[in-house]
Amino acid sequence: MSTKQFDAVIVGAGFGGMGAAIQLNRLGYDNIAILDREDDLGGTWHVNRYPGLTVDVPSTTYSYWFEPNPYWSRLYAPGEELKQYAEYVADKYELRRYMRFNTTVELARWDEQAGEWLVSVAGGETLRAHFLILATGYLCQPKTPDIPGIESFAGTVLHAQKWDHSYSLQGRRAAIIGTGSTGVQLVPALARDVAELTVYQRTPIWVMPKLDFGIAPVVQRLFAKVPSAQRLLRMSTDIFMDVMVTIAMWRFRQFRPVNSGAALIGRLHRFLAIRDRQLRHKLAPDYDFGCKRPTLSNTYYPTFTKPHVRLETSGIECIEPDGIVSRDGSKRTIDTLVLATGFDVWESNLPAIEVIGRNGRNLGKWWRENRFQAYEGVSVPAFPNMLTQASPYAWVGMSWFDTVEAQMRHMDRLLGELQRRGASTFEVTETANERFLAEMLRLLDDSVFRLGNCTTSRSYWFNSAGEAPLFRPTSVRSAVRAQDQFPLTDYSMA
Ligand code: NAP
Repeated sequence: MSTKQFDAVIVGAGFGGMGAAIQLNRLGYDNIAILDREDDLGGTWHVNRYPGLTVDVPSTTYSYWFEPNPYWSRLYAPGEELKQYAEYVADKYELRRYMRFNTTVELARWDEQAGEWLVSVAGGETLRAHFLILATGYLCQPKTPDIPGIESFAGTVLHAQKWDHSYSLQGRRAAIIGTGSTGVQLVPALARDVAELTVYQRTPIWVMPKLDFGIAPVVQRLFAKVPSAQRLLRMSTDIFMDVMVTIAMWRFRQFRPVNSGAALIGRLHRFLAIRDRQLRHKLAPDYDFGCKRPTLSNTYYPTFTKPHVRLETSGIECIEPDGIVSRDGSKRTIDTLVLATGFDVWESNLPAIEVIGRNGRNLGKWWRENRFQAYEGVSVPAFPNMLTQASPYAWVGMSWFDTVEAQMRHMDRLLGELQRRGASTFEVTETANERFLAEMLRLLDDSVFRLGNCTTSRSYWFNSAGEAPLFRPTSVRSAVRAQDQFPLTDYSMA
């Protein structure tokens, strides 16, 4: 099949892929292909359209710093506004011309002789690219639970990531499996419509009060006219999020009382919403705050006090054509099953596609045999001219934009230097990579992941070896500084 030649192939048309394309444009690269297996742009905000979806980080922080959106309707904007924002950014920066949808990348292989990446897509076409950028995200492989009998269910199954809005929930006898961030948003939304709702919880989640408010049109107009007014609000949400995550999670050793204070707020939140002691107890996490992504909701706990909503915690024995049988022998008859069962982060992701570097090094295999690792969360030895976004130790802060923009800075410094030297390939050195990994492991020693009680959290932040290598355990500020200052000698360039 035809082989096209590009400056860069970016895999993923979400905010990460679009940020990378904007950065490449700024560096003068214009021959770019952005490939995405979905049928439109926006990544997670295209795929997730379930009822009740809102961003769970203040929208002022959850957006590109260089492209503030004055028109968020709330502090925590609904999902469709995020999708519209993605479309706005794509149009403003003329990114659609690079995008190809319904295009599944199967393999990327470094061609040593040509000094290029060969990117194979389903259907047989191969693209050649000088740079390869993996922007597939951490949460892109939805998980269907392996529950006996699930395929025999005769009613309607709704997946959070494939919501069918034509299906009416009115009057249904529904069940939802999963009480992570998605479940916490879905439960109150479902309860508004269905006649009966049973919530199957395996592990309770920390739910914190949501300090949300609508942003009046007059304030939106002010933000549009005086961007610094919105920047001021952003500064406060940025600083609050960064300080909280840094001290409650990464500086757990020194600030354990702050973590306990956050947990106390969570307990109080539950206490104020639910009078039934037994119900409160069932909803109480028995692991430390910060082991698993905490959620924000003012409506989740009160939903369980409604007469048509039931919490089931004895575990699922099996699913039958007309209902769910619990481990205690009871059965709920249902016609609608909602799956909010999360994503596979460790088996079919990291990386989301097969990537073969120098000397046949297979990225997924190498990570699994040698620990998950990536220099500054973006580069891997033996993978020249490749930058990977959702990598080990890349995730910084709670807003995905923090990660994306830190990496844009890394690209700027790295590719800018490549151009200055008139070089065509870069590759991080083994020494730099080892030094960075050692530093991340040292920092993790102070974190809630190491010192807290996380064993019962079943958090997808941990892999099966009990390691938590997704996050860079530093503040966003420090991560950004590192991208501006990393020694250029950490890369070999030729
Ligand atoms: P998740 O946090 O991994 O939660 C999945 C839920 O499904 C858990 O409660 C899990 O129980 C349950 N589950 C999975 N398999 C099960 C089984 N076989 N039987 C019973 N229960 C099962 O996934 P998520 O809720 O989709 O959230 C993932 C991430 O997406 C979040 O951490 C967040 O980063 C992001 N997110 C963001 C937003 C937003 O910004 N609006 C919204 C949603 C999600 P266990 O805990 O016991 O495994």
